[in-house]
Amino acid sequence: MSITPLMPVYGRCEVRPVRGDHCHLISEDGKRYLDFAAGIAVNALGHSHAGLTGAIARQAQTLMHVSNLYGSPQGEHLAQRLVDLTFADTVFFGNSGAEAVECTIKVARAYHQHGGDPGRFELITFRNAFHGRTLGTISASNQEKLHSGFQPLLPGFRFVEFDNLDEARAAVGPQTAGFLIEPIQGEGGVRMASQEFIEGLRSLCDEHDLILAFDEVQCGVGRTGYLYAYEHYGIAPDVMASAKGLGGGFPIGACLATERAARGMTVGTHGSTYGGNPLGMAAAEAVLDVIADAAFLADVAAKGERLRGRLEQFIGNYPELFEEVRGMGLMIGLKFRHEPRDFVAHLRSNHGALTVSGSDNIVRIVPPLVIDDGHIDEFMDKLSAAAASYQPVEAVS
Ligand SMILES: *Cc1c(COP(=O)(O)O)cnc(C)c1O
Repeated sequence: MSITPLMPVYGRCEVRPVRGDHCHLISEDGKRYLDFAAGIAVNALGHSHAGLTGAIARQAQTLMHVSNLYGSPQGEHLAQRLVDLTFADTVFFGNSGAEAVECTIKVARAYHQHGGDPGRFELITFRNAFHGRTLGTISASNQEKLHSGFQPLLPGFRFVEFDNLDEARAAVGPQTAGFLIEPIQGEGGVRMASQEFIEGLRSLCDEHDLILAFDEVQCGVGRTGYLYAYEHYGIAPDVMASAKGLGGGFPIGACLATERAARGMTVGTHGSTYGGNPLGMAAAEAVLDVIADAAFLADVAAKGERLRGRLEQFIGNYPELFEEVRGMGLMIGLKFRHEPRDFVAHLRSNHGALTVSGSDNIVRIVPPLVIDDGHIDEFMDKLSAAAASYQPVEAVS
């Protein structure tokens, strides 16, 4: 037998974390890493945050899981809190980002089917989007590498250029149910949609009675210095997927919707065995206790500015290596002139700092939101040392 017991779907690196310590990870071999990847924008409170681990421990001892056959005081409380904090009137809880996006897709389809217009089932999505790995969410992305081996895909998606309003407008037809978009593409390369584009999509949706669905799985929950990135644009979506940072490391996803958008989501139409379990609710409450706070969010924005300023100054020393710095808050993309995977490995293995690569020659810098200036200094020191000692691997012909 040559297949590994862990299904070999990931290209795993040599780091084997066994313990977390605030903004650092400790590997099996005792090596310490500065964690500016944060489980891909998940560990918003860092590792071993006392408020979060305490809430989980207390809830685990009290009540971990019950069926959605029963009333949910824990779910009602968290849903009410999210409703109070956002555009939404109602929330469905699941366990991951992809499930949250699946629910937004179902909300958009059900909106039209419930409204007597079943021909409107197609969501317009955007090139280089990433929405998850279920069959529905890979179908919502144009990326071939996600599709290969898994055809046929789910019908009902159409891809247009990100941030191109003319293409988006031209794609609207009698089958269109709405738009599904990451306002800031994460895996696609930390690309921000422009103000005009987002406003344009909102207008198209208003004009044609379409659903504007945001995937804020990566950019939400304080990452950009806003609780959710849509606030930056001064418009509201009709439905939105949230996950990653929402549980701070505990698996939870949420689909937030307006009452109007959720008109098709009636009793029996959707569900999840684990969705809304009391343990997940307790984790998300503890995360919101820290993040849903104006002073905390302002601090995320200020730290993001400082880190970004340092990075911008730094890349000037290595114009042959780096092209630009982009992003918002603590969702930062460092764009390389070449494929950056070797550099990410060098920074990790030889200088002890963790980052994540993305499409478009981007390295994502998505640290815990609780970093302080000492962590920014440590990161810049490691990055500078890595750039100074970096020997690009010669292309083999
Ligand atoms: C990570 C991610 C997802 C998928 O989340 P999972 O929890 O892995 O299912 C969906 N959308 C975006 C924008 C993401 O970054």
